[in-house]
Amino acid sequence: MSWMYRKCDLCGKNEARAQVQGKASTREYRFAQMHVICKECEEKAREKMLEHRRKENIQAKQENEKNGLPELIGSAKQIAWAEKIRNIKIKNNIDTEFFSSCEKSWEIIDRR
Ligand SMILES: [Zn+2]
Repeated sequence: MSWMYRKCDLCGKNEARAQVQGKASTREYRFAQMHVICKECEEKAREKMLEHRRKENIQAKQENEKNGLPELIGSAKQIAWAEKIRNIKIKNNIDTEFFSSCEKSWEIIDRR
């Protein structure tokens, strides 16, 4: 196992590294197959992902309030996690109802 270095796959400016396992002859190939990014791009990607999650959590909380769900109790992290889960669950139930009503409509049409 050894560290291998090359330019970042995203910005192409900074040096990026990865630990590659295997014999020396296979390491080059494995390293070429890997997606390697620098610390700077990694931090940017992390920030972007966290921002996306924050937006999702806010949206879930707003939709849950709109659907008349009671306020949750717990730490900020627990609440955000639970709001998202129950939002997904409600959306899935709505979709299930929608699709089962579509299926029933088709059954009626088919019998004609
Ligand atoms: Zn980079």
